[in-house]
Order: sequence, then C-alpha cells, then structure tokens
Amino acid sequence: MGEVIAIASQKGGVGKTTTAVNLSASLAHLGNRVLLIDLDPQGSVAASFGYTRYDINAGIFDLFLGDASLEDTIHPTRLFDNFKFVPTNIWSDEQERRNLGGVTSKTRLKSELAAVKDDYDFILIDCPPSLGSLTFNGLLAADSLIVPIQCEYYALKALGRFLKLTRIIKNEDNPNLRYRGFLLTMVDSRNKLTRIVMEKVRYTLQGLVFSTIIPRNIRLAEVPYYGQPVIGFDKHCNGAKSYLELAREVVGSGYMAVDNKAPVTEELVAA
Ligand code: ATP
Ligand code: MG
Repeated sequence: MGEVIAIASQKGGVGKTTTAVNLSASLAHLGNRVLLIDLDPQGSVAASFGYTRYDINAGIFDLFLGDASLEDTIHPTRLFDNFKFVPTNIWSDEQERRNLGGVTSKTRLKSELAAVKDDYDFILIDCPPSLGSLTFNGLLAADSLIVPIQCEYYALKALGRFLKLTRIIKNEDNPNLRYRGFLLTMVDSRNKLTRIVMEKVRYTLQGLVFSTIIPRNIRLAEVPYYGQPVIGFDKHCNGAKSYLELAREVVGSGYMAVDNKAPVTEELVAA
C-alpha cells in the first residue's frame, strides 16, 4: 500500500511545488511507482511536465465535482513510465469558492485515493499556500507531511501556526497523520541569517528536520522552462543531486510523531 505524503505550508513561495515535483521525480528514478497530485490553483505541476491547460482532459476540478474518478484524471509525465501526475484544472481561488464551496467534502480526495493506493509506492500531494478546503483535503488524505522551510526571518513564526493546525487536524480528523520531516530549502549557506535560522530550526524541531538540505540552485527555477523536473535536463547539478539525496533519505527513514509534546509550538510562535 502506497504512502500518501502531503507537501504543505501555508507560507507562499517556500519551495513546496519545487519539492513536490523534484522529490517525486527522484523517487521514480530510484524505481518507485509515484503519483503526484496538484491541489494548487496556480497549476505549476502541469507546467513542470510541459503541459499547458489545453493539454489537460480531466483534473482535480472534475474529481471534486464528482464528474471524474481519480483514475480518469491521471496523466503521464513523459519522464518515467512509473511516474504519473494528476493536474489541477481549478484555475483560480475564485473558481474554487464559486464552484466548489459547499460541494467539496473534506474527505473527497481521501476516499478517491483508496482506489489507487495499491498501484503506487508513493503518492505526493502539492498543497496551495492557504488553509482552505483544498489544503484540508490534502491533509486529511495524507499519511504523512513534508514541510518546506525557507530559512528567512519570518519562517519560524509561520511554522508555529502551521504546527498548531496540524495538531488540530490530527486530533479531530486524521489521527494517523505523521511528519516525514521539515525540509530546509533555498539554502545559501554563505548567508549569515540563513545559518542562524537553520540552527534555530534544527534546535527547535530537534530530530524532525531532514539531514538533506536543498541549496539555492538556478537549475531548479528553470524546471517550468524545460517542462521537466531537473533530473530530466541536468542530473549533475546541485539541485538535482540534493533532491536525489532527499529521495534516498525518505525511502530509508520512517515516520515521526505529531504528538502534543514535540515540537515546541510556543517558542516557534514567539520567534
Ligand atoms: P506557492 O506557495 O506559491 O505555491 P511554493 O511554496 O510552491 O510557492 P515554489 O513555487 O516551489 O514554492 O518556489 C518559489 C520560487 O522559488 C519559484 O520561482 C521556484 O522556481 C524558486 N525556487 C524554489 N526552490 C528553489 C531553489 N532551491 N533554488 C532556486 N530557486 C528555487
Ligand atoms: Mg506551489
């Protein structure tokens, strides 16, 4: 049975989509059967595989309206046969509110995933930078969470709020939810503030932070231009190597608890 991993944080631009696309591709490169699901109306996942909105037959919108099953929405990535994706075709927050408000059951994605979980080793979900119904669907469907953190001054503050939400979801809706880990992204280790924030994050979250660090690397920002995950056009660059290292760490490591002792939310909120 495949593991469902949501890549989530309500903070925008921290590397969720870059991680979802390149970690999925690296897991597939290692031989795992991988499905990547895009829940974000920004639609960046499809662009990362060279698809425009006109190439998409059915997507998340049809799934939430009950017009398609998850299987109908699965598209090939054209990179590896064992790597597929589900695009969004919700094109704006407004469309989400107008058409899906009240229609979307909180557990719609979870129940649809049950039908395909055996076909994959990993199912990754790219969540939008908000705490609306789409993110909720992602967090309820997930077995585990990867939370990217960009090492800047306000990172810890945003994280505190997210940790609280995760605990509420675990306590009320998804008791099996676990952390896979917190991931330091866009790291420029020559920058003093980055080093300070990294130390503070590691100290506060103790063993919950991945050993792998994702450096700032221009090749990762070029993914939509090439229409391929970085491993498809420059597998030797630092960005590609670090996501491959992360994939190895994910395959080799286990879950971490989302319990009420660790991590120290109050300290994070005050940071
Ligand atoms: P959103 O919250 O809007 O969905 P996100 O958390 O998904 O954003 P990304 O889209 O992955 O974040 O990244 C934000 C921007 O930073 C993008 O332009 C992306 O190409 C770039 N970026 C992400 N990671 C890196 C990296 N390690 N090195 C260089 N650029 C990066
Ligand atoms: Mg994104």
